Formats: sequence, C-alpha cells, structure tokens
Amino acid sequence: MKRIAIVGASFAGAEVANKLARRLRWELARGDAEIRVFDKDNDFLVQAMYPLIVFNSLSEEHARWRKSELLDPRIKFYHGPKGELVSIDLRNRELGFADGSKYNYDYLVIATGAEFAPQEVPGLMKDYHTFFTLDGALELREILSRFSRGTIVELFVDLPIKCPIVPLKFGLLLDSYLKDRNVRGNVNIKLLYPIDYLHAQPEVNRLGKIMCEQRNIEYIFRFMVSEVNAEEKVVISDSGEKIKYDLLITIPPHRGAKVFRDSGLGDPLGFLPGDKSTLRYRKGKELYEEVYIIGDATALPVTKAASVAHYQADVIAENLVSDILGTGPRKIYRGEDICPMLTDLYTHEGRGRAWLPWWNYTVNEMPFITTRFGWWFLRAFYMTLPAVVRGGL
Ligand SMILES: Cc1cc2nc3c(=O)[nH]c(=O)nc-3n(C[C@H](O)[C@H](O)[C@H](O)COP(=O)(O)OP(=O)(O)OC[C@H]3O[C@@H](n4cnc5c(N)ncnc54)[C@H](O)[C@@H]3O)c2cc1C
Repeated sequence: MKRIAIVGASFAGAEVANKLARRLRWELARGDAEIRVFDKDNDFLVQAMYPLIVFNSLSEEHARWRKSELLDPRIKFYHGPKGELVSIDLRNRELGFADGSKYNYDYLVIATGAEFAPQEVPGLMKDYHTFFTLDGALELREILSRFSRGTIVELFVDLPIKCPIVPLKFGLLLDSYLKDRNVRGNVNIKLLYPIDYLHAQPEVNRLGKIMCEQRNIEYIFRFMVSEVNAEEKVVISDSGEKIKYDLLITIPPHRGAKVFRDSGLGDPLGFLPGDKSTLRYRKGKELYEEVYIIGDATALPVTKAASVAHYQADVIAENLVSDILGTGPRKIYRGEDICPMLTDLYTHEGRGRAWLPWWNYTVNEMPFITTRFGWWFLRAFYMTLPAVVRGGL
C-alpha cells in the first residue's frame, strides 16, 4: 500500500488532498493507497477576505469554514495533537506528532504555511493591530468605525509576506472607506515599506504609485523598523527616523512553521527550499524525490498566495499520481501567480473597483486598470474559494 501524508490542511494541503482522493479513488477503494492529512487544528479561514471584513464588505461567516467539511470523505483527517507535526525525519520517512504518535510515509506533501512573529519587533506588542488574522480584522473593524481624526500608519515590517499586494490594497481601500464615512479630510494615511517599490510587478507598482498620489496616500520606502514606542506613539526606523501615528496597523514578520525552524530543514526563517518547477524538496545537494513542498511554507521565488497554492496543487497532485501509478506525463510549475488588486469599495460614493493581475516566472502582467466588473468578479471569486478547495471548480 502507498502511504501519502499531507501536513497542513488549509488551501494548499486540502486542495492537493482532494485532487488526489478523486484521482486515486480506485486505489483507495482497493486499499492499495491511503491519504492521511494532518493539521494542528480544524479551522479553515479564508484569509483573503480579511481586508473586506475590516471594511464591512464581507462578514466573518463568509471566512470561517471547517477543514473536516472541505476534505473528501475518502481522506483520513487527523487534527489537534494527533495532527500537529512536531518532528520530522526525512531519511527514515517518519513524522512525529504532538500526541506522541508516529507515521511512516511513502510520499509527503508539506503545506504548513506561515506563522506571524510580531513579538520580534521591539515594543510592537504594546500597540499591535493587524488585519492578517481574523481576530485582528474584527478588532480593526471596530477601531476604524470610531476613528475619525489623526494619522493612520500601516507598517509593513519585512518580506516575505502573504499576498504582497495587500499593504497597497489595504491603503487604497482605507481611503475609500474613510471617504464613505466623510472623514477622509481629517485623516492622514502613511504606508511604511521596507522595500523600494509598492509591488514587484512593474504594472502594479506603477498604477499603485499613481493611485496613492491621486488620493494623497503617503508612502515611505526603505523604512526598516527598529522599534515601536507605544507611549509616544512613534515608529522608529533603524536610521533613527520617527513617524508619529494615532493608529498603527501592522503587517507582521512571517516565519515558517516552528518544526522546520527547529529541524534545520528550512531556510533561516523556516521556509522550505526546493525546485521551483518540480516543487520537490531540495536543500543544497539533498533532494528528496518523494517530498513535495507547496504554498506559503516554501522559500520558492513566488508570491505567498492561495492562487499560487492552487496552481501548485494541480502540479503536485498530477505528479504524485504519476509517481504512484507509474503513468502519465509529468507537469511542471511555471510560476503562475495571481494577486488581486482592489482599489475601491462598493460604497455610497463608489461602485467598487478591482482587477486580477496575473504573471508567471517569465511573463509580467500587462498595463491594466481596475474595473467595476472586476469588483463583482472578485467578490464572487472569494465566495467560491472553499468550492475551489473542495474541487468543485
Ligand atoms: C490579509 C490577507 C490577504 C490575502 N489575500 C489574498 C488574496 O487576495 N488572494 C490570494 O490568493 N491569497 C491571499 N492571501 C494569502 C493566502 O491566504 C495564503 O497564501 C494561503 O492561505 C496559503 O495557504 P497554505 O495552505 O499554504 O498556508 P496556510 O493557509 O498558512 O495554512 C497552513 C496550514 O498548516 C497548518 N500547520 C502549520 N503548522 C503545522 C504543524 N506543525 N502541524 C500540522 N499542521 C500545521 C496550519 O494549521 C494551517 O492549517 C491573503 C492572506 C492574508 C493574510
């Protein structure tokens, strides 16, 4: 029997698992294969919706699902301590879990995503507000509904982050939201970036700069934060520059799962290296052909986005089927990447505008503008994301 282990059951892991369950249905029915999915919890959260939850364009219920209800019933799902990976031995193909159990696999897919490390910024925890978690988005929704005067600083601490278009997108939607509340004239918006562009895609960067300038949104590049002084309400850079705020919204540093930071299998931040086309784990000369990496957990030169995980899931599922059955062509991942750009909310004043920039390892997005159709398309797309994971689309 072929034993397939998938660790992580969010976008990346669940999509691979569901695709495999259908493609290997006869092998599963005969007992020639088994698919085990492990996760430390059973909450499936649609993170892409968080900015829209902050601005009352979607509600919490849209974003909250259960992993167990999105996984194909042919999959064996372990969550909680029996699903939390705490040790890994690639040479002996052995996984160890928080409840003390072990599992030996023939094939492994690592989809453990990214964690946040706001505590690494000195002083930040005394004034930490973020829309990168659901609880944080709900808290910010409350805070912003009462905010009508002063300076809002959005602090983007460092790369890599999930959905790198989101600091820009959030700034533009914040402008739209404050205009709708008739308080924009009393509020300054400042975006602090650690890099010297708003987005690595040239056309997103170009349009982003134009829109920020038209809307009086200030952006400051190469701002490497060294400290937050919550008493004085200032953010201080490593060159001593001080930026005052009334409300600080932070995009925290991201790290790979603890088990990979501890095991040395990841890079210094805990993200997993590998082949950018085959998606197999490889560190230096050590290549493990039976181990695939996917989604936010990787150190590959692609965006950390659900869209990326979606394209990668297709490649991994197809290639695993070929590995197991010894048939079929092998697929390669070409860096397909989509990061939605939303620029205007649907409000009394505007009708919502968005676009889905698309690119890959060799092709950049073309010049574009955001459109009203894009807004409706994107909302519909967000609502169908759980169906995409289930495999309906
Ligand atoms: C504010 C925001 C906006 C975004 N907007 C978009 C967007 O518009 N479009 C888009 O495509 N993407 C967007 N993203 C990014 C998208 O949500 C992520 O890229 C996507 O969730 C990645 O999926 P993943 O499965 O790789 O990782 P994750 O969703 O991080 O899931 C990792 C899973 O692994 C599990 N896990 C972790 N460690 C362990 C362990 N030791 N043992 C067992 N299980 C473990 C976790 O419990 C979790 O279920 C956004 C993200 C944020 C935060």
